[in-house]
Amino acid sequence: LTVDEAAPRWPRLTYDLDVEVCVVGAGLAGLHVALEAARRGASVAVLEGREIGWNASGAQLGTVMPGFGVPLSDLIPRVGMKHATALWALSQAGAESVRAIAADPAMGDVAYTEGALEVSNVDIGDRLIERLQLLGDLGSEVEGWQVDHVRGVLKTDRYFHAIHYPQAFQLDGRKYLRGLVALARHAGVRFFEDTPAVSIDPAGIRKRIVTPLARMRAEQVVLAGNIHLGDPLKRLSDTLLPVWRHAALTQPLGEALSEAIAFHGSVADTDGVDHFRIVGGDRLLWSSPETTWPARPERFAGAIQRRIRTVFPQLREVAIARVWSGVVGQTVHGMPQIGELRKGLWVASGFGRQGLNTTAMAGQLIARGMSDKDDRWRLFSPFELVWAGGRTGRIAGHAIGVAARQASAAAGLLSRYRERAAVRAARSEARLAAANRGAGIRQRPPERSAAEPAPPPRDPPPRDNVSRN
Ligand SMILES: Cc1cc2nc3c(=O)[nH]c(=O)nc-3n(C[C@H](O)[C@H](O)[C@H](O)COP(=O)(O)OP(=O)(O)OC[C@H]3O[C@@H](n4cnc5c(N)ncnc54)[C@H](O)[C@@H]3O)c2cc1C
Repeated sequence: LTVDEAAPRWPRLTYDLDVEVCVVGAGLAGLHVALEAARRGASVAVLEGREIGWNASGAQLGTVMPGFGVPLSDLIPRVGMKHATALWALSQAGAESVRAIAADPAMGDVAYTEGALEVSNVDIGDRLIERLQLLGDLGSEVEGWQVDHVRGVLKTDRYFHAIHYPQAFQLDGRKYLRGLVALARHAGVRFFEDTPAVSIDPAGIRKRIVTPLARMRAEQVVLAGNIHLGDPLKRLSDTLLPVWRHAALTQPLGEALSEAIAFHGSVADTDGVDHFRIVGGDRLLWSSPETTWPARPERFAGAIQRRIRTVFPQLREVAIARVWSGVVGQTVHGMPQIGELRKGLWVASGFGRQGLNTTAMAGQLIARGMSDKDDRWRLFSPFELVWAGGRTGRIAGHAIGVAARQASAAAGLLSRYRERAAVRAARSEARLAAANRGAGIRQRPPERSAAEPAPPPRDPPPRDNVSRN
């Protein structure tokens, strides 16, 4: 069993079929569920409306992090610390499951690298400490990096502090996807491409799934169609806000790249704007703008080029070799939708921009829920299916995204301005001190800013010195 370089094509479903588990959608979510269910002994068939992994799952950059796309500051108040800790542990188990799957010899060389950095675009060291404490309380292994350390490995003045996740890792996203298919196939999963589920009747013990040329019956149906689910359960896809993410691979950039970036894991900024890493020794893999409408990916080559130049001006105008896009489904609360909607009808979607660990986690939760009646998926129950607002929701979602990015861009600008002002002030202070020393004038102590701690009180001069003077 090995992963072929060219993805194999699978037949359409042209005959009626009875299985235990029917998975609708062959992205990362559907593939992880299918693999886990088949490994537990179920007969599994996957229906894919187009080609396996044609969308987000084939477009992702391969960064595997613990956690979810939603900030901890939103998650903890919503469910409480104990519940958030349990969810976080599941998300880490999802990442570990990806690591174990990727280590299967069938995967071949998935270009594995360790570590990820979450860099701050603003100078907020105090918030970094708060976040580090929270992540530590949740059981994550993390390190805080000071500005000097960050700028030692990323030669840019755009970034300040960072959180380093030593246990995060990255792999070649497309190879991993193809490897998943090979492993699932080996476990007995049957794949059908160009076979959309056009209607689903979820009533009864055996559910009926209609496809253009044939019907299927299954005890369990898993809806893993992301935003494309369409007619079979339109109300479900309406709970997702589609967000298109665009990515590019540069041409080889030579030594200039290793001079600018000396970190071999992935880097994502806290604004959620840029996500990048070095691949193949001297190329940059960079994902940047997001839109709430589809567009030809080529249109974003210039935008990505400009982002790279903004962050690393020393790389100048980088040549782009390839650009692509994928659409992710964003829920209103930011957490994935995982669980049993009614007996035997499961949902695995809404994975947003963090889909590798979370889809692997969904695979485990759903497969265990189906075979062992394990109900840990209920930890996701507080995150209901909320209508994402249709077209109006998309426009609002885009406006909110732009406003948030503009606000943090402004904060970043301010931080950098303050930093440059502090450097200028220190230089002129030093020049003044030198000039004063030359003129024999005693230097006045520098004025403290409100944020600086007061120096410790000086010890009073020893008494005997006073008496001697
Ligand atoms: C540019 C980019 C970079 C990313 N980088 C990362 C990263 O580094 N790390 C990370 O963790 N995540 C990343 N993500 C996010 C990740 O890719 C997604 O969260 C994940 O792939 C979602 O998987 P999915 O299976 O839910 O959706 P999809 O990949 O969209 O798969 C759903 C499938 O279901 C099929 N389908 C839908 N309806 C039907 C139907 N009725 N019948 C049959 N088939 C149907 C569709 O055709 C589709 O193939 C990135 C995303 C993008 C776009």
